[in-house]
Amino acid sequence: MPLKINVGDIVELKKKHPCGGNTFIVRRAGMDFRLECTTCNTQVWLPRPKLEKRVKKIIENSD
Ligand SMILES: [Zn+2]
Repeated sequence: MPLKINVGDIVELKKKHPCGGNTFIVRRAGMDFRLECTTCNTQVWLPRPKLEKRVKKIIENSD
């Protein structure tokens, strides 16, 4: 079952960002996701399959 990830969600990834943070806020959802690191505010693009593999958990759901 695909993960339900929406804009505004905060997700924790298995792989840490180079800055040491591992929580990201979802800025855009679709085939590709745009995530913003909550520690250093850098934005990264990830294709959905890659994101689904990397998500450890959804910390905060925007709903
Ligand atoms: Zn970062």
